[in-house]
Amino acid sequence: MKLDFTKHPHRRLNLLTGEWVQVSPQRTQRPWQGQEEETSGDGKPEYDPKCYLCPGNDRAGDASNPEYTSTFSFVNDFSALLPDTSNEEINDNDLLISKGERGMCKVICFSPRHDLTLPEMEISQVEDVVDLWVKEYRELGAKPFINYVQIFENKGEVMGCSNPHPHGQIWAQETIPEEPAKELKQFKNYYEKHTHTLLSNYLKLELERKERLVVENDHFAVVVPFWAFWPFETLVISKRPFARFTDMSEEEKKGLADIVQKITIKYDNVFKVSFPYSAGFHPAPTDGEEHPEWHFHMHFYPPLLRSATIKKFRVGYEMLANSQRDVTAEYSAGLLRELSEVHYKHK
Ligand code: ZN
Repeated sequence: MKLDFTKHPHRRLNLLTGEWVQVSPQRTQRPWQGQEEETSGDGKPEYDPKCYLCPGNDRAGDASNPEYTSTFSFVNDFSALLPDTSNEEINDNDLLISKGERGMCKVICFSPRHDLTLPEMEISQVEDVVDLWVKEYRELGAKPFINYVQIFENKGEVMGCSNPHPHGQIWAQETIPEEPAKELKQFKNYYEKHTHTLLSNYLKLELERKERLVVENDHFAVVVPFWAFWPFETLVISKRPFARFTDMSEEEKKGLADIVQKITIKYDNVFKVSFPYSAGFHPAPTDGEEHPEWHFHMHFYPPLLRSATIKKFRVGYEMLANSQRDVTAEYSAGLLRELSEVHYKHK
């Protein structure tokens, strides 16, 4: 029997992690059945006197925010990583193995406005956010004890985000963390064999086939990766193979702002709600190596499934055995591709 991706259960290899995903397209559990929900998420004030991220407000301890008018970043008052701490390695009988870890955590406010998320901001404001990502990557990555700078955004209550003021985070640390470390291994193996970066060859194929392409501009493309796990997962890939935030031209920075806004607008348009997700960048490590194998990209991992309130849970088989999804990547890509590039609130 010939394998039919739309009918037969199958496994797909995630090239970036080397792990497999189980796909079960015969379970016709479509993620979206056309219903639109009027949720109560809207109607946030422009300024909230109780928000610890709004301009001029008090934060934890005796810290307070300046009257910032664009973007604003600060060291997290509850940092998970600290710069001045032990980095001792301990191997206790080859059984209890540990290592002190140095690092820094920062918070980035995207805008002084309490109520504006990336898809609703002016494009010039999103460009300011890109400039800040570049600056933070450069400054944190230049510290001798920082070998990886993880920039990410956790958006929406369903993701456990504690403050609705649009913001992102940075955790920068001594060790290359697990997810980028898996990619580093995969990228290196591929580059040695093919002399091109894995993602430049992958993107070339996706731009030819078009069935998993969601949106593109001159410098970036968004696809639902062949091996996607989350129902609406996407991957933003740079068209030129470069490795770092600091490798981007001015035009590419504008292109990044444009593509981030385009995909987040499409996400909000899926259920006509502010779409929750965890998203973040995978630039090259800042370990002083050249990294010709590395290809700059960004992941979006949204948890929603069939409606604005039904979330996919990673439980049971997925905790114990393997990642699994029902609808195919091609189905989700088609759905996202058809959605408007104009935000539903601006229509
Ligand atoms: Zn990645």
